[in-house]
Amino acid sequence: MSDQNQVNRRSFLKTATGGSAAILSGCFSAGELLAQEKEFEIPNNRRSQASKGIDNPYQIDPKVLNRFDESEVAINVTPREVGMDNRTTSTGRDNVGLLSYNRLSVPEEIANIPPDLDDPKQLATQAKTIAKLAGADLVGICKLDRRWIYSHSQRNSESPDPPIKKTIEFEKVEKPYETDQKLVIPDRVNNVIVMAMEQNRVLTQCSPSMTTTCASSLGYSRMAIAVVMLAEYIRGMGYTAIPAMNGTGLSIPMAIDAGIGTCGRNGLLVSPEFGPNIRLCKVLTDMPLSPDKPIEFGVEEFCKTCKKCAIHCPSNALSHGERAWSGHRHNNPGTYKWYNDPVVSG
Ligand code: SF4
Repeated sequence: MSDQNQVNRRSFLKTATGGSAAILSGCFSAGELLAQEKEFEIPNNRRSQASKGIDNPYQIDPKVLNRFDESEVAINVTPREVGMDNRTTSTGRDNVGLLSYNRLSVPEEIANIPPDLDDPKQLATQAKTIAKLAGADLVGICKLDRRWIYSHSQRNSESPDPPIKKTIEFEKVEKPYETDQKLVIPDRVNNVIVMAMEQNRVLTQCSPSMTTTCASSLGYSRMAIAVVMLAEYIRGMGYTAIPAMNGTGLSIPMAIDAGIGTCGRNGLLVSPEFGPNIRLCKVLTDMPLSPDKPIEFGVEEFCKTCKKCAIHCPSNALSHGERAWSGHRHNNPGTYKWYNDPVVSG
């Protein structure tokens, strides 16, 4: 790594305009970033008391579990089943617009400079701080488990029309790319930074109403800002970044792997800080990062007897029974959990 390269990258990171999180990484030393990270800590007894270091946070039947097809996700199935065009609320499509798999505002000459920092601990601290400065309330890091990446990306998501799909594949290539048939992620992308944003509790408690939609819409807006800023920071540091909201892969198992929370009877990720009142998004990357460990804080045991969500679910979509290895159609069999009926179609 030459001095010239250091000057160029640092100079870009310090002087770039446009609100990119890349600026932030150039403004703080590693120590200052660590201090910033502590500023963002949310004191929480349940997290501090949770058992960390869980190696197997869920049970999987490897003979049954396959990568899930995005066109089978509830929000994509419902428009087809009820003939409703839901595209105005689309959360974005893989590798489209701001969710591009390749750089947006980072100049090519900066992105092409070989990384000058490769310490996984230091980079994890930086990435988490950038994520929080970009709006995440909780951040965790895990190794990428490709079983959680969708087998297919639906290109006309939330449409009542038959799904138009592309496969998502991993190849030994330098940069992500897309053809008429497939979306390709470089083979070396092996880490995920998962972020959680708390939804406004008061607005959420107005459900079901249009007011509640404001809470989820604000959540989606925050997700978009955070994934784009974090991805641009990573690209500015010389690494590959794949930003994703609901797309590209299943956020919940990645969030479990990254130690953000565990899955409840309601089928949602339950976090110690905010319960299930969060939205999840993630950035896949080849940046070397120290992973976090999954946590265990008694949610599954509590859910066995609580059943409050199932009892009060207006559409009776949630399971009242025991966990199982498969459930209603539009679910992906092969994990031991509570399966819900996402489209309540019988
Ligand atoms: S069973 Fe109770 S604790 Fe578990 S997700 Fe439902 S409401 Fe929450």
